[in-house]
Amino acid sequence: MKMTIDYHPELFRQACAVIPGGVNSPVRAFQSVGGSPIYFQSAHGAYLMDVTNRQYIDYVGGFGPAILGHAHPKVVQASQDALKRGMSFGACHPQEIAIAEKITQLMPNLEMVRLVNSGTEAAMSAVRLARAATGKNKILKFHGGYHGHVDALLVSAGSGATTLGTPSSPGIPQQTTAQTLLANYNDLSSVDALLDEHGEDIAAILIEPISGNMGLVLPEPGFLEGLASRCKKTGALLVFDEVMTGFRVALGGAQSLYDCTPDLTILGKIIGGGMPVGAIGGKKEIMSLLAPTGPVYQAGTLSGNPVTCASGLATLQLLDEKRSEIYPHLDSMTSKLTQGLEACAHRHKVPFTTSSIGGMFGIFFTDTPVINYATACQTNGEIFNRFFHAMIAQGIYFAPSAFEAGFISAAHTTLELEHTLDCADHAFYASSQLLAHN
Ligand code: PLP
Repeated sequence: MKMTIDYHPELFRQACAVIPGGVNSPVRAFQSVGGSPIYFQSAHGAYLMDVTNRQYIDYVGGFGPAILGHAHPKVVQASQDALKRGMSFGACHPQEIAIAEKITQLMPNLEMVRLVNSGTEAAMSAVRLARAATGKNKILKFHGGYHGHVDALLVSAGSGATTLGTPSSPGIPQQTTAQTLLANYNDLSSVDALLDEHGEDIAAILIEPISGNMGLVLPEPGFLEGLASRCKKTGALLVFDEVMTGFRVALGGAQSLYDCTPDLTILGKIIGGGMPVGAIGGKKEIMSLLAPTGPVYQAGTLSGNPVTCASGLATLQLLDEKRSEIYPHLDSMTSKLTQGLEACAHRHKVPFTTSSIGGMFGIFFTDTPVINYATACQTNGEIFNRFFHAMIAQGIYFAPSAFEAGFISAAHTTLELEHTLDCADHAFYASSQLLAHN
């Protein structure tokens, strides 16, 4: 039986009257875990505080941006200083240069960067740019890969191995997604089949190099390198969506961890330090096709917003300054957390698999090794939901969906980690009871 808990029903009722589904982004509605959302009033360090002053250890981190912990004093200070100088100029200012320089310094594959306002916007423009640069039309993406709610990229994961995309939302014409091809993550033969059939017309292979939207799934050795060599052969651009992984799995992103070079990179989340942001970056010759140097139109009233630039730059500067502390800390915390959770699951005989890298981790309620979307879908949603609510009851906040990656920040310490594992013991016990009754 699906568990449903309404945490703050009166606020949710009010919200539903004026906001579709009561939320400004669907996963926040708690629909998949049952019940309705918690309403928060503040976030500091590793903690969230709800409207009843209840505190939670946070493993969502605003879905990625809060790598330093929430409201880091230096990021807040930089944002406040910028705010006082003016919230939006609609014109050029030095901090947009400073953040572009910082991003290109930390990710040398990006020779130039254009700032936008969300990861969705960045993906949309990257697709346009790839098509213009190659003179080709089709985009090859992967089952379970999410690149924002861009029409052309919002295609059903489907059940076939490799299919032509069909829209996963009403309102998207079939013609729009007919140019989108779907392959299986970690499966070069599914890529080859599509290249054999459509290779002449493929503008880009678009991928989350480390996949974070079917839970966290890591690339198998040779997979990304295989994509890079196929792109070279066919003339398609390799586009890495590092909205989630950029500056999170390593300071230089996923692209610094594997032996392959993307032509274009999409960024978001961390580079805004918590403010709305996205970016497209890549080789000069491709980026120069963007207006006004080139013919590919792309624009934005709030793009390069001074408060976003200040908050993002402060975040990147801190990450760079403390790189030798922060990244080993994130790596060690996520691996200790996932090992600890696995041990709890094992004690209670709950099927469970994990993954982790840098400040990201994945949990799956299955014994099947998770290597792609089909295996990620083996996770038992009902057991996840029981675990999720049992953790909330003890003040631990995981993302309200079995298919979201988890995030740890530099502000999480062994204190939070040990408390989380104590709570997990109870939560796995609750999950095991559900299994026993099924
Ligand atoms: N790409 C990836 C990998 C993402 O995880 C997301 C959002 O979670 C996006 C793109 C879309 O970014 P945004 O929500 O800022 O539009």
